[in-house]
Amino acid sequence: MPGSDSLNDPTRVVVIGAGIGGLTAGALLARRGYRVLVLDQASVPGGCASTFKRHGFTFDVGATQVAGLEPGGIHHRIFSELEIDLPKAMPCDPACAVYLPEEATPISVWRDPQRWQAERQRQFPGSERFWQLLADLFRYSWAFQSRDPVLPPRNIWDMWQLMRALRPDTLLTLPHTFSTVGDALRRYGLANDQRLRTFLDLQLKLYSQVDAERTALLYAATALGVSQLPQGLFHLKGSMQVLSDRLVAALKQHGGQLLMRHSVERINIQGRNPTGVVIRNSKGETWTEPAAQVVANVTVQNLVHLLGDQAPQNYKRRVEKLPSASGAFVIYLGVDQAAIPPQCPPHLQFLYNYEGPIGENNSLFVSVSQPGDGRAPEGKATIIASSFTDPQIWSQCADYQALKDQYTAEAVSRLARFFNLSKATILHQEAATPRSFAHYTARAQGVVGGIGQRVSTFGPFGFATRTPLRHLWLVGDSTHPGEGTAGVSYSALTAVRQIEMS
Ligand SMILES: Cc1cc2nc3c(=O)[nH]c(=O)nc-3n(C[C@H](O)[C@H](O)[C@H](O)COP(=O)(O)OP(=O)(O)OC[C@H]3O[C@@H](n4cnc5c(N)ncnc54)[C@H](O)[C@@H]3O)c2cc1C
Repeated sequence: MPGSDSLNDPTRVVVIGAGIGGLTAGALLARRGYRVLVLDQASVPGGCASTFKRHGFTFDVGATQVAGLEPGGIHHRIFSELEIDLPKAMPCDPACAVYLPEEATPISVWRDPQRWQAERQRQFPGSERFWQLLADLFRYSWAFQSRDPVLPPRNIWDMWQLMRALRPDTLLTLPHTFSTVGDALRRYGLANDQRLRTFLDLQLKLYSQVDAERTALLYAATALGVSQLPQGLFHLKGSMQVLSDRLVAALKQHGGQLLMRHSVERINIQGRNPTGVVIRNSKGETWTEPAAQVVANVTVQNLVHLLGDQAPQNYKRRVEKLPSASGAFVIYLGVDQAAIPPQCPPHLQFLYNYEGPIGENNSLFVSVSQPGDGRAPEGKATIIASSFTDPQIWSQCADYQALKDQYTAEAVSRLARFFNLSKATILHQEAATPRSFAHYTARAQGVVGGIGQRVSTFGPFGFATRTPLRHLWLVGDSTHPGEGTAGVSYSALTAVRQIEMS
């Protein structure tokens, strides 16, 4: 069903992907008067922040914690503009309980700043000057980001948005632009504090894909600072799906259209402009949908693929040179409440040994449902545990099922050291691998979490929402400010503002 009425309509926008980035861009554009069509190859919107149901349990596919719900936070701002209610949410306190190998007591990342300060002073004596630097950089960077800079700037308007977001205190962050967390640790004589480094490696791997040595300091300041008041992390009531469901409602309320099970196979380019997209539906029918603007809510690798031989060569080369990204192995357990220890925090992180790179199948990030949060029937709970894994292991393995079984057995046995897991308490069990993520979210090789927040790929050096092709925009976790539902919402807002000015 080609949209022939869309030909030559300058307000016609096609959004590829109904992840949080695409839905946010689509809903905002519809609200601002554009004729929006959002397409997604999956059957459920939300991408990595969607859910699935099994035997009365609701499992969050990937994202389980949400930032940006507080007044002034990005989801709060966007939901206010869309005139929809924010989902009900419980603050995560602690944001995470981190267990290092052989340690019975966790490092608890408390929501209250004073309590977290006392905790880290006790856990990492002598490191307070390092933490104070992070706290200062977080304050300056957070205020800067909330003034909506465009990063990285690609034209005069972008540059103007960047300049007007600067304040004297932003300049205090500039000397740290090229520093990593590793550099800051050395500056404060903490390079050999193995316990602190391990904690930072674990937490940063979650948020930036890379360890402390390689994570850009300015990114780390934000990722590590956002868990405390007046910001904070939240656990949504119901499930993560409620975030996308509300964005879909807003999109439709403002006249936008969403087609699920519709895959975009190619973006057509004429000169330097997109003219439309080639769509295939679930019946195998294909057609070209004209568009004046195309917003791609896909990974930057997928974008290059969708452009094929029309991709600008420099852009393509840059994407090809990116360090390889991580995939995720995730195990989803539906359990009897008896499996959950009393006072269990909603989010935990375990490191099991110091072998190999931190986070590569030697750690688990665990999310546990809370009674009454809508994820499990009464007297039951969900446990979702994820670890990082190299997607190539999964694409090249000789016996995929055997590898999946091995990872599953290992994860269950590790989780059983903390949870009371047995045949009697595990009521449902399944797992997802990079192959599952490739299938359900169409992300190339099933990579998750963006391009990694190294100095060379963060902020001014990252991928822009403004691509080298006019009227073709990239939103989502490949762009500034990076992964997470809050991060991709910022990129969506940036692209929407750029489209309005284009
Ligand atoms: C295991 C795991 C745990 C995580 N934990 C958290 C967390 O606790 N908190 C947090 O904030 N973030 C977390 N994240 C990260 C977060 O989920 C993502 O960064 C974010 O949801 C990405 O959103 P997105 O819109 O960029 O892309 P995606 O979620 O990848 O959405 C892209 C959409 O585009 C569709 N699509 C792709 N190609 C095409 C095509 N050619 N045609 C049509 N449709 C297409 C896909 O089907 C998908 O729906 C986690 C991620 C994972 C994997």
